[in-house]
Amino acid sequence: MGCESVTTMMLLRGGLVADGIAATVRRADVLIDGAMIASVGATSIVPTGCDVIDLEPGSVICPGFIDAHVHAEGPLLASGRVDGALAQGVTTLVVGQDGQSWIGATRDTARYLNGYFAPVNGTLAPARDLSVAGYRDALAGKLSQNVAVLASQGTIRHNIAGMTAGPLGKDQMAAARREVENALADGAVGLSSGLDYLPSRFGGVGEIADMAGPLAAAGRPYVSHLRGYGPDVLAGLDELVAVGRTAGIRVHASHLWGPPADIETAFRRAEAADVGITYDMYPYRKSSTILAMLLLPFDLQANGPGHTLAALTDPRQRSALLAGEKYTGEYLDGLTLGCLPADTAEFAEFAGQTITQAATRSGRPAGEWVLDLLIRADLKVGAHLDRPALTDEDLAWLSTGDRHCAGSDGIYQGQHPHPRGYAAFARLAGYYLAGGPETGYQQLARHLSARAADAYCLHDRGRLAPRMAADIAVVGPAGITAHATYNAPREQATGVALVIVNGVITWREGKPLTTEFPGQLVR
Ligand SMILES: [Zn+2]
Repeated sequence: MGCESVTTMMLLRGGLVADGIAATVRRADVLIDGAMIASVGATSIVPTGCDVIDLEPGSVICPGFIDAHVHAEGPLLASGRVDGALAQGVTTLVVGQDGQSWIGATRDTARYLNGYFAPVNGTLAPARDLSVAGYRDALAGKLSQNVAVLASQGTIRHNIAGMTAGPLGKDQMAAARREVENALADGAVGLSSGLDYLPSRFGGVGEIADMAGPLAAAGRPYVSHLRGYGPDVLAGLDELVAVGRTAGIRVHASHLWGPPADIETAFRRAEAADVGITYDMYPYRKSSTILAMLLLPFDLQANGPGHTLAALTDPRQRSALLAGEKYTGEYLDGLTLGCLPADTAEFAEFAGQTITQAATRSGRPAGEWVLDLLIRADLKVGAHLDRPALTDEDLAWLSTGDRHCAGSDGIYQGQHPHPRGYAAFARLAGYYLAGGPETGYQQLARHLSARAADAYCLHDRGRLAPRMAADIAVVGPAGITAHATYNAPREQATGVALVIVNGVITWREGKPLTTEFPGQLVR
């Protein structure tokens, strides 16, 4: 397998090239030698033994797309690829997001995450110690796409201190730093946190900056699901920048949204503090995460799932919860059930419905119904949330900003996932091509590929040029079309004619090619 791909030459002929470098596309051929690009330009003589692929007129050759934020560690471990992403031209998936990955977990932490975060990342079964190198080894020879891994701050904190809320002690801090160093040595491309989740949330600026210290020498970013979005985004970004300033590192905000004026203020402050800052965002007004995070106060969850479940059955605590604004107003109406444990048949049939709809069908008050659901499901429920404060205008502004790179936040668990894992890149394409293909495809190449490569220091990916890795997405003349919707979330995008990973074709005419597995852990 490996030998053949190293000696094979391939010529993509007759397309336009969006290299992610120039201002406009140009007519050029791309010659691939093994796993690398040999040349981009006119090819007068075709080398002997070279496979020639004549592209349909109007096809555009782009650098393979990089998903800057995706929950794909489970699907990649299970099958070596994510078809919903491949169909959109994604050649590299950056996992280990939101500080909650079971990559880097001890067995105890994996057990905790298999309960707490399963609706997002799936489970590591059996629960076991799994380092970044262990994950890489488990994937070796099985990958159709590349994967990059972030070390997870919440995971590391749980490895060291479990669900302890207070600041880490000196020895614990040193141990946390060592775990980050080991992850970087194994090939991690940064450190993530998820400050809406537990125990990630227990880390303050000083602690996280100390833990992030090893990123400075490695030149890698700190990546954070902020403590606040929407009306709280300025404070959330200020905290992110404070970590960057203290540790002397670049920072990256995950799935960023909030009032543009607040975000611009935070960017100006980052510039004044000399902290490089980037972000990812997907083009949807609904979010998707664990239902417990959306519905339950943090103090109710702070001692772990056992205590949370006990509180939900305690009559006094239960009625206090039900009197709260999330249970009495329209909030439950804006929550759609996405992921329910398969063994909760009496609830699982409601995936895809709002909580209000599901409760009405069951003849129960919505608040009572959803608390019973959380108890019955051991809290393992994923849901999608309407964000009325996030407007289409804000999304357009976020998606076209200079600091933006594409991150689907794709979640591939459950009966009714959010469509973003199947259509975010295809939908984003619309923003960049609005002004026409000449400059539009170069914008697209920058937002969907080059920027994420820069944010994560993947120096040999994200652009088409000699000696760069041959990760390529060829978009057919009709462009990319999204088909997934909230009602039919798993419909694959169409229009990507060809996907090449490290010089090997892994997707062609709407199907994966599975005779070779060229994907790697990239760094
Ligand atoms: Zn996420």
